[in-house]
Amino acid sequence: MKILVINAGSSSLKYQLIDMENESVLAKGNCERIGIGKGIFTHKRFDGKVKKIEVDMPDHTCAFMQVKDAILDSEVGVIKDLSEVSAVGHRIVQGGAIFKKSELVNEKVISDIESLIPLAPLHNKAHVQGIRACLSVFGESLPQVVVFDTSFHSTMPPKAYMFAVPYKYYEKYQVRRYGFHGTSHRYVSARCAELMGKDIKDLKIITCHLGNGSSLAAVKGGKVQDTSMGLTPLDGIMMGSRSGTLDPSVVTYIASIEKGITPEQMSDLLNKQSGLLGISGISSDDRDISDAVDQGNERAILAHEMLEYHIKKFIGQYAAVLDGCDAIVFTAGIGENHPHHRKVVCEGLNYLGVKIDNEANEKMIRGNEGKISTDDSKVAVYVIPTNEEIVIARDTKKLVEGNV
Ligand code: ADP
Repeated sequence: MKILVINAGSSSLKYQLIDMENESVLAKGNCERIGIGKGIFTHKRFDGKVKKIEVDMPDHTCAFMQVKDAILDSEVGVIKDLSEVSAVGHRIVQGGAIFKKSELVNEKVISDIESLIPLAPLHNKAHVQGIRACLSVFGESLPQVVVFDTSFHSTMPPKAYMFAVPYKYYEKYQVRRYGFHGTSHRYVSARCAELMGKDIKDLKIITCHLGNGSSLAAVKGGKVQDTSMGLTPLDGIMMGSRSGTLDPSVVTYIASIEKGITPEQMSDLLNKQSGLLGISGISSDDRDISDAVDQGNERAILAHEMLEYHIKKFIGQYAAVLDGCDAIVFTAGIGENHPHHRKVVCEGLNYLGVKIDNEANEKMIRGNEGKISTDDSKVAVYVIPTNEEIVIARDTKKLVEGNV
């Protein structure tokens, strides 16, 4: 069975075609600049063969046409006939309180995803465009499945997901914590249990997804108890260009300084001009901050110190939430590739009984998976490269085969 995994953004569309016989990636690619002039289409086959062209893609339907042509192409393609694709799995950012698990797509599901657009204006709108475009290019008979970033977090108790603002905002407008990166937290927590040779039902795990966007989750017995992102992916630890958790008065105070600032401009300030970028004034990319740290740049050093402090602080919170902790997992771009941050964070967790193995930690980069704590550490610490696409493909397969 071959499954096409789709991540549709407002101006981009990423895809992977996965062979479920051995869960190998046959091809993957990206359509960039959809609807904004000259687009870029990149397709890479498993053997490294690449197709990269500049092509106008006025909408998602045109983008899907490129994907279809590439996977069928005589030079770079991987299938002979479209019927070899058994199903499509879509990543959806916001499932609200409606979607607690992945679902087969039908008109009701599409309209429910549409109803959540106010909670994730850019993402959910793009996902619906992606689903509709996929239906028009691949045909109505090809099963499609939606997998939500939020659904793994749907097990949070109300005391964790409620914000202490007037209750009507929850009742009328669904203002609450939803959490994001759920597919990644789900994958790495399950994989951690597998690596430990234990049943996830018996484990308390803190998962740290540290990328451009970052979130932590407290997972007990395979169920999320709390997570750091909130109503939107702005909450939690500081990120590449997002502020993370703030005293809410910072927002109203800045609004009083920047007279006439609109909610959109404030959102831009907090989402795109803050975080590592806002503090360092250099970049939102952690590699650039590391280079500046090496040159002794003080604001870059401060940005790194803040980031490590935030991660440690949230791990401490979640150890309290879980009443202990058996394992900590680092994943995503920074979590998988930055031994220094992991070392600093773990050295600050002595009180939990965390002991880091420095040699193992240094080796865990660029896709390596393994344990970075010593054998006598009370808490096992792992680096696990995330794989959201495989979770989407597995859910899609299960639903299509009627096994859910
Ligand atoms: P996104 O949230 O966009 O998926 P990623 O998970 O790709 O982000 O993480 C991006 C971050 O990870 C950047 O700050 C980048 O500097 C860092 N990163 C990615 N790859 C590496 C690497 N090989 N070495 C060091 N840092 C990396």
